[in-house]
Amino acid sequence: FNTERFGQHILKNPQVAQTIVEKANLRPTDKVLEVGPGTGNLTVKILEQAKHVTAVEMDPRMAAELTKRVQGKPEQRKLDIIIGDFVKAELPYFDVCISNTPYQISSPLIFRLLSHRPLPRVCILMFQREFALRLVATAGSALWSRLSANVQLYAKVDYLMHVGKNNFRPAPMVESSVVRVAPRDPPPPVRFEEFDGLGRILFSRRNKTVHGNFMAKGVIPMLEKNWRTYCSETDQMVENEVDMKAKVEEVLEQTGNTENRAAKMDVDDLLKLLYAFHKVGIHFA
Ligand code: SAM
Repeated sequence: FNTERFGQHILKNPQVAQTIVEKANLRPTDKVLEVGPGTGNLTVKILEQAKHVTAVEMDPRMAAELTKRVQGKPEQRKLDIIIGDFVKAELPYFDVCISNTPYQISSPLIFRLLSHRPLPRVCILMFQREFALRLVATAGSALWSRLSANVQLYAKVDYLMHVGKNNFRPAPMVESSVVRVAPRDPPPPVRFEEFDGLGRILFSRRNKTVHGNFMAKGVIPMLEKNWRTYCSETDQMVENEVDMKAKVEEVLEQTGNTENRAAKMDVDDLLKLLYAFHKVGIHFA
């Protein structure tokens, strides 16, 4: 195991660990998922407040240290350790997720949490500063991106705190931040692949007009292909000649989006545009 590759930067400041756990507002009945517990600096604080903790740790040496740390203590029976990669591990039921994991798995981590069912009540997550700022960015701001839209479609995200590199041993190269991710429950009734598919087109150049991005190479043929699949799946007659470009332009005109730019469109604007496309059988996945 290589410190950099697995991001083994242990959180050494007990005050920061305490604050992270407090921000979760744990209830005595809560089951908590912790990803990448390391030597357990967060874990022991979570165990004081929760009913149960499942910790997923990829490095068996770290898992052994954590096991030793609770051995013989009353907390021992409240803790299950899964040794393995979080991305592949089978997850148990949990109410809350708390994690300080390596930043290489930031994206898979957040999307896996948001697609877990039943949805967790809240997740308190430490990320690299830039990633955290993209998660909380609002439409119209410099960091508003496809990632911001995709995450905010499913969750309310709040910036909680700044954590400087010197709070870790060894100190990482980058600054960190803690965010609160509160999933919208029930989630909006839209397939992620559809929303993300529209986002891929619009955010490919986020300052270009929506119309301009739809006219980029390959987009219209891709939509035409999706449209044929959609027609055959829904047993509709496929017109041989479909003018997909005209169909797209009509939707953009009718919804007033032709001259809009993704950089300024919020989740609601994107959803409205997506529904307008769906109404005429245009799909993005
Ligand atoms: N949470 C501890 C803390 O705050 O002190 C440790 C943090 S350290 C940044 C990240 C931990 O995640 C390491 O123990 C590492 O072995 C573990 N880890 C790395 N990749 C993982 C993965 N894919 N699944 C589960 N754990 C992983």
